[in-house]
Amino acid sequence: MEDCLFCKIAAGEIPSEKVYENEYVYAFKDIDPQAPFHVIVIPKKHIKSAADITPENSIEVAKIFEAISEIAAKEKLEKGFRVVNNCGSDGGQTVNHMHFHLLARRNLQWPPG
Ligand code: 5GP
Ligand code: ZN
Repeated sequence: MEDCLFCKIAAGEIPSEKVYENEYVYAFKDIDPQAPFHVIVIPKKHIKSAADITPENSIEVAKIFEAISEIAAKEKLEKGFRVVNNCGSDGGQTVNHMHFHLLARRNLQWPPG
């Protein structure tokens, strides 16, 4: 998708601080963290928002949550975390590429282990 910030970040065209990556998913530090641990998890495939999930693309959501549990284990978030999705302008979404905020009251170890 042209002119999509998060598509460009996933493609490496715009730099980001990568925390995790696999075939489906890319995760990186939020530029303006709202918690000591604040990572954005996105599908590499462009999906505008959670309102655009269909039976044809819902595998992307499953892959995101698989990645979140892997990140949580790797980053030792054993005491827990929050997953937040803002959907649409009334939901506070500012970047129109679906993403999940992964937040915890614990510092992100950097660089990730
Ligand atoms: P939203 O408000 O759409 O749920 O979340 C967008 C998030 O993307 C915000 O938390 C914002 O700080 C983050 N963000 C926006 N632009 C960039 C960027 O260029 N790099 C990184 N790493 N994060 C960004
Ligand atoms: Zn995109």
